[in-house]
Amino acid sequence: MIKKTLGEIAEMCGGTISHEEDRNKVIQGVITDSRHIVAGCLFVPIVGERYDGHDFALKGLLSGAGATLWQSDRGVCPEGSVIEVEDTLVALQLLAKAYLKEVGCKVVGITGSNGKTTTKDMVYALLDTTYKVHKTEGNFNNHIGLPLTILRMDSDVDIVVLEMGMSGREEIEILSSIAQPDVALITNIGESHLLQLGSRKEIARAKLEIVSGLKSGGFLIYNGDEPLIPEVLAESQTVKPAELHTSTFGLDSNNDDYPTGMMFHAKGIIFTSLVHKDLGIDLPLFGRHNVVNCLAALTVARFFNISEESIKEGLSHLQLTGMRIEHVVSPRGLTLLNDAYNASPTSMKAAIDVLESMKGYRRKIAVLGDMLELGSQEKEYHAEIGSYVTSDKINMLYTYGPLSSYIAEAARVNLPEADVHAFTDKAALIKHLVEQIHPKDIVLVKASRGMKLEEVVNALIEKC
Ligand code: ATP
Ligand code: MG
Repeated sequence: MIKKTLGEIAEMCGGTISHEEDRNKVIQGVITDSRHIVAGCLFVPIVGERYDGHDFALKGLLSGAGATLWQSDRGVCPEGSVIEVEDTLVALQLLAKAYLKEVGCKVVGITGSNGKTTTKDMVYALLDTTYKVHKTEGNFNNHIGLPLTILRMDSDVDIVVLEMGMSGREEIEILSSIAQPDVALITNIGESHLLQLGSRKEIARAKLEIVSGLKSGGFLIYNGDEPLIPEVLAESQTVKPAELHTSTFGLDSNNDDYPTGMMFHAKGIIFTSLVHKDLGIDLPLFGRHNVVNCLAALTVARFFNISEESIKEGLSHLQLTGMRIEHVVSPRGLTLLNDAYNASPTSMKAAIDVLESMKGYRRKIAVLGDMLELGSQEKEYHAEIGSYVTSDKINMLYTYGPLSSYIAEAARVNLPEADVHAFTDKAALIKHLVEQIHPKDIVLVKASRGMKLEEVVNALIEKC
């Protein structure tokens, strides 16, 4: 993590030290949450919608922080080691940008609607075989999480892999300007944040902001199955596609890399691709979408000259961040696919495909909850999922939430009425499931985060 004198930090973040005698004091690490202060760190109070970190700055200093930033419009700063700045968030971002530049490592930036965290974990697993690599932890992918991720890395890191999330325009632009990636990757364009952005094309524009900070001569890797990406790139006033090095991946055979063979088995998928013809990549994950994520990660690995031997080794050690199609077996033997972490139409279909590909179970049961923030066409998107769950894919459908009733309604066209159950009461849903489920079934649970379907997962693990 960052280790600097207070004087250096002040210079890097454009601030002024309140007590000159502190200039040589050594600071290690940066924290924005006063509950997690560690001795000698820099506390950065962030002004949020509900809380103002400045209210905790004094407590931070008393709990052992080496110093605190202080935004000048927040009144009198506390006694102690303080760097005064105009805006603490901007200062945090400037500090991260300056530190990253000083470390001088290569940067991989990953954005997209779905699969960022999964792809980031895959990229990490591949690069880590050969280099010292630092990556975004969990989902620390926004205007605060990304700078904190950078500030947590050691100064001898070779490559940092950064996830870049967004909920509107001009957010990825800021992240890209901080990170200045050598490699920018767009996993896909889906429907998440459609409510805020209005159209899929506008979502594509937002994701392509990642190119704005790309280092000159940088490399753009994108999902070539999505025609909106080249379309938006071609319309861009600032980026000329001809000036970019690009590579595409996807299922379609027009891509620079695509799967040439896939074999689904009990523990994952073995596949070959156009580029890796003879490798037989053994992916310990389910779902065609994870093959696509892996092709993206492999393209990054080739950029960094990772050998085929190391690719095999890296994927065998793959560690994914929790709750993304987690394969769980209850003590009594029921198999669950826990994907309660989040949902959008694209990822919902991907998860249904995973359930479809699972072999050897008595029945395939999908428990699907509302997908939130889809905007004015939310009912249509839910109905589309209902039409997608045909009887060759699953045997039983449970829905939870008012919007999901549109999934159930559309599904009744393809599934027998008796196999479709719509609920708006979670306790009643759990009771029905527990009564119906047999340990030899497999159950997929998926919804937007706000629906808290992990409660269903936990109940099934406990009771079935
Ligand atoms: P977030 O925006 O919440 O950070 P993310 O982009 O990091 O999400 P992941 O956490 O990797 O995405 O995956 C979330 C879910 O999206 C997975 O559980 C899976 O169902 C689905 N998913 C992952 N990759 C893809 C893909 N390439 N295409 C469609 N769906 C995908
Ligand atoms: Mg993520």
